[in-house]
Amino acid sequence: MKLSFLKDEQIVVVGHSDDLIQKVIEMLEFQNYDYSKNLVVFPGKRPSYYLKKALAQRLNHSFIPPLIFSADEFVNFLFKKISNACFIEAVEAVGIIYEICLRHDLLTTFFRKFDNFISFGFKLFNLFEELYIEGISIHQLKEVETLIDIPAKSQEKLRFLSIVYEDFYKELIDRNLCTRALRYRKLADSDDLESYLKFNNLIYAGFFAFTASEKKILQKLATLKNFYFLFQEEVKFNKKLFDKINLYSCPDTHAEVKVVGHLIENFPIDEKTVIVLPKSDTLFPLLRQGITFLKDEDYNISMGYPLSRTPIYGFFNNLFEAVNSMENNQIYVPAYFKFVLHPYTKNVLVKNSAELSRIIFHQIEDLFRSEEIPPFVELEWLEKEVPEIISANLKDFNLTVDDIKEHIKLIHNNTIKKFIIIRNIEEFINNCKDVLLFIYEKTTARFHYLFYPYVEFFIAQFEKIANSTIKSFQFEHIESYFNFFKNLVIFENVPFHGTPLKGLQILGFLETRNIKFKKVIFLDLNEGVFPDLSEDYLLPYSVRKIIDLPVYQDREKLIYYYFSLLVNNAEEVHLCYIKNDKNERSRFIEKIIWEIEKSVSEKLNIPIKSISWSVNLAAKRPSEIYKTEQIMTIINSLCLSPSAIDVYLDCGLKFYYFYILKLIKKKDISTEIEHSDIGIIVHESLKQYFKLRKGKKLHPGDFGNDIELIVNDIFLKKYGSKITGNLYLIKFQILQRLSELIEYYRKMAKEHQLKILEVEELIEESLFDTSFKYRIDLVENIDSSIIIVDYKTSGNENNYKIKFDKLDISDRQSWSKYIGSLQIPIYMLLYSRKYSINPLNLKGHYFLLGKSLINDEKVRFDPFTQIDQEEGIKIVSIILQTLLNEIKDKNTPFEPTSDFKNKCKFCDFQPICGTFTTPSKTS
Ligand code: SF4
Repeated sequence: MKLSFLKDEQIVVVGHSDDLIQKVIEMLEFQNYDYSKNLVVFPGKRPSYYLKKALAQRLNHSFIPPLIFSADEFVNFLFKKISNACFIEAVEAVGIIYEICLRHDLLTTFFRKFDNFISFGFKLFNLFEELYIEGISIHQLKEVETLIDIPAKSQEKLRFLSIVYEDFYKELIDRNLCTRALRYRKLADSDDLESYLKFNNLIYAGFFAFTASEKKILQKLATLKNFYFLFQEEVKFNKKLFDKINLYSCPDTHAEVKVVGHLIENFPIDEKTVIVLPKSDTLFPLLRQGITFLKDEDYNISMGYPLSRTPIYGFFNNLFEAVNSMENNQIYVPAYFKFVLHPYTKNVLVKNSAELSRIIFHQIEDLFRSEEIPPFVELEWLEKEVPEIISANLKDFNLTVDDIKEHIKLIHNNTIKKFIIIRNIEEFINNCKDVLLFIYEKTTARFHYLFYPYVEFFIAQFEKIANSTIKSFQFEHIESYFNFFKNLVIFENVPFHGTPLKGLQILGFLETRNIKFKKVIFLDLNEGVFPDLSEDYLLPYSVRKIIDLPVYQDREKLIYYYFSLLVNNAEEVHLCYIKNDKNERSRFIEKIIWEIEKSVSEKLNIPIKSISWSVNLAAKRPSEIYKTEQIMTIINSLCLSPSAIDVYLDCGLKFYYFYILKLIKKKDISTEIEHSDIGIIVHESLKQYFKLRKGKKLHPGDFGNDIELIVNDIFLKKYGSKITGNLYLIKFQILQRLSELIEYYRKMAKEHQLKILEVEELIEESLFDTSFKYRIDLVENIDSSIIIVDYKTSGNENNYKIKFDKLDISDRQSWSKYIGSLQIPIYMLLYSRKYSINPLNLKGHYFLLGKSLINDEKVRFDPFTQIDQEEGIKIVSIILQTLLNEIKDKNTPFEPTSDFKNKCKFCDFQPICGTFTTPSKTS
């Protein structure tokens, strides 16, 4: 730092191990406990609390404190003496920059929309502020701007920056407005500071680097008598540091926060203990998993937390998605549920109860799951008719139809309906504010201790916009307002301001400057996190060098200076970093080690505490279920299907959960198409297609392309007309596959006598004293054969194969291993009973739609190809009879599968059985 204008007597060098705040106190002049004739400036705000507390401890008496400012506060204080210009917020500045760009017709079509421009506008504003505070002239900028890539209209690109830069500050001055950089520049150019600084002592303490404007201000201050500049020496590490530094290599954030808990619990803590979080993401894991034993009042948090990560942002996001999904006054059901099932929405009080509200919305959700409801519905239908339908289920809760109607209407009116028509930003922002106040007043959210600071900050942001010049901006489409909201929030951090000097301090790194802590716990010391040296979006390194702007090395030096002081001055230091294949430890740790090794001229072996999780992967084998009388009653009344036999063969427990307890995984009301939906759509399409061709001899010309109409109609009914993304792709694939199938039948009709005997035929028959009920996809008559067909979306015949060559009928344990499926053989047995035909005169095929090509006989899989059909049918009959006897035998419990590895992987009952890891055979 070159500050040659300072006189020697003005520079006070503070030792790197000394307490800067105590040094400042020693320099203060006072009379009768009155320190008000001193003015002290630190880089940040936090040292002022420590200075006042240190004075109070030293004097043990009431006193008048000195005037203490952060650098920005000091500039604002002086600026207000020499100017009455209005301070503006960044968003307002972006609005002015946008208007300048439009005036000069500089923007591409995309950026002419303010919601698209805003994020770029913030970057431009930050760039201009840096250029301005560093005193970069228009002329200097013109020299380099051709090297800067700006998304402007091509013919204007070359002069874009200099035109907007020049106009922006001119306009601010003309309109008597000011930004931070303008205030610094104004002060740097002012010759009249002395008259406002009538202090006995003016102390600048704890600075390391200055912008050009700051240097000029300092140069003026240096002409004042009684101006002192306290500079703390850079640290020179030595071997002694090793005694107090502890390094922790952790596998992840959770291990880091557990280390913190270990270091804090059972130790006395006060404001001299600090946890430094260079990454805000670690804050909540720390609070919720690391230091859960502390009460809220035991610590103070002072750091910024991204607004876009708060639940309020998530709530608005869901709300805007719901509004955005509306078409012709109808709302898209999955988006609606995403919004109403958000914890804020579903907890809007009804009759003073949040629980009742949750019950109402989950009833509506169940209704949508159980009924075939179209993908788009009217809000009015939800308000008027849905309450009528669900009210019968809510009688026990003392809720009338009118209560439910009123409740749904209240939520719609105060959220969704507020955004259907918006005239300008002011109206949009005011409505956002109203929604937030509605949630604050009418839900239980306010009882969460962090909800209030979030709301307060959101409201403050809304008010800034509502009072700014951009409030009258209008957008053509409603979604532009939502984009505007997102782009606005993305740059904001909620500042947590706790009680500054109470208890354990949880601080962002910059908050630690100039303060001497006893115990320092520093997390996330990883490359890319600390120091954060991410590159500037607009000004590349080479350009910064040419115009002499600070580059990342300068930033790194500044951060290292404060970091090394923090570490050096503490009595106990714990540095944690994450070590895994994606993260390296910070260069600052390497630097400290290197500095120490240099000081002793030897390579040191640094002890590192390596934290690892001890994970117990041993999984317990789920217990068998013994059959009670009640279970037996259910079993005896069961009407089975061939698939139920497959399920039982796979796993007795799965059969018990599904067919006895009738547990079914809840289907999501979501925009995502599930695998089971694909099967349903395919089966429904084929059913409709073949029904039109049933019972007659078919010729190639009978296989028209009406399958496309059928598929389109099914998708329209199920998903509405807005079919995009993944859904579109799946629809395309289904159509393509079914067209190939039709082509396959066309070819078959050319070469064979083909007739469709039945489509989705219901079979209700009894076999081995057991009732069966199921539907067969298709029964074909090809030449003289009757073939039972079951369509499968899979392409792998192994899933259905019975390995007769390996199957040992006397070894019950081996059955599930060698039997893929009994479905087609059982179909054949039951079909033959229904029509009194010999099963040997039937054929059964799994039709494998998942095969890469549907153009030859490989798409049909006959389970009896390996064996003489008579022999095969005999074996299957014995197996089926044995399985049915087992199911009906009270003394045979339902056993878990013997193949946990393969059978549990995709089973819906994993959470009940706990087989996320494979249980050992002996456990
Ligand atoms: S998770 Fe495994 S053991 Fe449990 S029911 Fe499913 S298949 Fe059977």
